[in-house]
Order: sequence, then C-alpha cells, then structure tokens
Amino acid sequence: MLRCEVCEYHNEGAVEKCPKCDSPKEKFKIVEDEKAKLIEMSRKRNEMHVAIMGLYAKVQKWATTIKEENLDPACVVIAKRQDAS
Ligand SMILES: [Zn+2]
Repeated sequence: MLRCEVCEYHNEGAVEKCPKCDSPKEKFKIVEDEKAKLIEMSRKRNEMHVAIMGLYAKVQKWATTIKEENLDPACVVIAKRQDAS
C-alpha cells in the first residue's frame, strides 16, 4: 500500500502522480504498518468464519441426532429451533 504524503490518497500499486492532488510519485510512501494491520484483520475474520462454519455444522449434526433419538423434551425443543433458522 502506498500513501500520498500530501493528500493521504492510498493506492495499491505504484503511480506516476497522485490522481487526487497531482503530486509526483516521490510523494508516495509505503505504508507497511497499515498493510500489516489489514492482513491481520483479514486473517482474524477468516479464522472466525472457519470456526463458525465448523460449529454450525456440528450444531446441525447434533440437532439431527437429538430428533432421531428423540432425546429429552428440552433438547428436542432446541433441536427444532435449529430447523427454523
Ligand atoms: Zn495526493
């Protein structure tokens, strides 16, 4: 990520001049901190997504088992709630 020091415009790749303020390419500096932060945020989101999908698959499997084996009524109520979602 590159940032124009004059107007704060951000660009992924190199530029000849700033499209926003026309400053020359020498005014663009690499923003490593910001890039690292974005990568870390993306990594966390992906990690949560995978964890949630894994839990969701387990919940669906448990709900099926609870209904098939007709476990105690409180469990069946929770399992049927799963059908509504
Ligand atoms: Zn600029």
